[in-house]
Amino acid sequence: MHSPTLLILATILMGIMTLMLMAAWRFNRQIAGFGSWATSYFFGTLFCVSLLVRTAVPEIWSVIAAQSLLFLMAYMSLRGTRAYVGRPQFSPGYAALAVLLLIAASAYFTAIQPNPGIRFTLSSLMAGAIFLLCAKTIATGKIQEYPARYLFAGACGGHGVFLLLRPWLFSLGNTGIFDAAQAITVSQFVMVESIAAIVLMAFGIVMLANEQVTLELRTIAERDPLTGVFNRRSFLTLLDKCISQADRTNTALSIMLIDLDHFKRVNDTWGHKSGDEALRHFVAVAVHSVRNGDIIGRIGGEEFAILLPNTGLTEAGAVAERLRGDVAAKPLDNEQGDIPLTVSIGVTHHYNIEAPEVTLHRADNAMYLAKKNGRNRVEVAACPSSAGKPESPDNPPESGQQGEERQATSL
Ligand code: GH3
Ligand code: MG
Ligand code: MG
Repeated sequence: MHSPTLLILATILMGIMTLMLMAAWRFNRQIAGFGSWATSYFFGTLFCVSLLVRTAVPEIWSVIAAQSLLFLMAYMSLRGTRAYVGRPQFSPGYAALAVLLLIAASAYFTAIQPNPGIRFTLSSLMAGAIFLLCAKTIATGKIQEYPARYLFAGACGGHGVFLLLRPWLFSLGNTGIFDAAQAITVSQFVMVESIAAIVLMAFGIVMLANEQVTLELRTIAERDPLTGVFNRRSFLTLLDKCISQADRTNTALSIMLIDLDHFKRVNDTWGHKSGDEALRHFVAVAVHSVRNGDIIGRIGGEEFAILLPNTGLTEAGAVAERLRGDVAAKPLDNEQGDIPLTVSIGVTHHYNIEAPEVTLHRADNAMYLAKKNGRNRVEVAACPSSAGKPESPDNPPESGQQGEERQATSL
């Protein structure tokens, strides 16, 4: 296929990708960077058009348009990438300055000292360096768990390296190393590489956007919207998983059930909005008081549960006591002044292969005992079957009679 046909193909593809990205962006405006990426493709389409019409307009205008549009395409791609990974943007002033310098250089090397080689090298190096920067930004951004970033980083990086090497490839042609047929093959190869990069980068962008949407949906399904901790359903699923793992690995697992004391009074005295703030405040204190691997869930209105993997009952009791003290010592400080909060906590451990509902029920009973015994306190309930057995993360209680435990009602 000869090069002008390839250029027409690249222009059509670029146009289609632009429309596709613009349409997807219209419905997913919340995805950071998506708009800049779509705009980058729009500039890319204009760049292709400027190459197509270059024989129909004065050379100086076609050169200035092509050079600026290629730069803007790369720059908008970098803006999109930085926005996606949450990095601050470079000041647009730098981009404006770069475009002005590029226009000045293009005009100089077209009208005053005509030198297509230098013009070509300049624009290739600039765009190549920016695409490489895109690849580095996405590869080192804080989105490690997204596999799609490798596709986008690879496509941007590969295209960046190719743009940097392109002037050298063409300068080889000028030394007479290629015959006429080979020179055509080289320019065709350059076009094919650009077409592949256009498709792969657009595909990478769509995949990154898709991963972001999937993550949002998962968050909506798993998290409590008010406090951000796991909702009841996902907490119970995680409880099942942790229990299976503890049974399999013979490690300790403890659980706390926490109920905010006299919470109705908080709502009645300071209003529902302050009540909501108090729930968020409690979660902030709890996150601070427990370990990183501990799992916090909101299992009812003002009722929370915390799973403590690899933690024996004595240690869990100490953590609960620390949390109780922290909550009591740190009232919610809002525009209505200090709102004092206290919690009642029931703590228990999971006993070898007992059903999750049995463990939860024991924690629930312990929490109600804490209420009965005056609130703002911790009650620790050992599984009766484990009485007298040593317990520690390395030496969890062994299995015993499970029969009567399994008959307990579920939470
Ligand atoms: P106790 O010490 O016995 O637990 O007393 P309590 O007042 O905390 O318990 P009760 O079950 O009587 O009241 C719970 C209150 O929690 C009632 C309900 O309005 C409030 N609540 C539940 N969910 C939310 C919420 O999402 N936001 C707010 N602001 N309040 C909530
Ligand atoms: Mg309560
Ligand atoms: Mg309650």
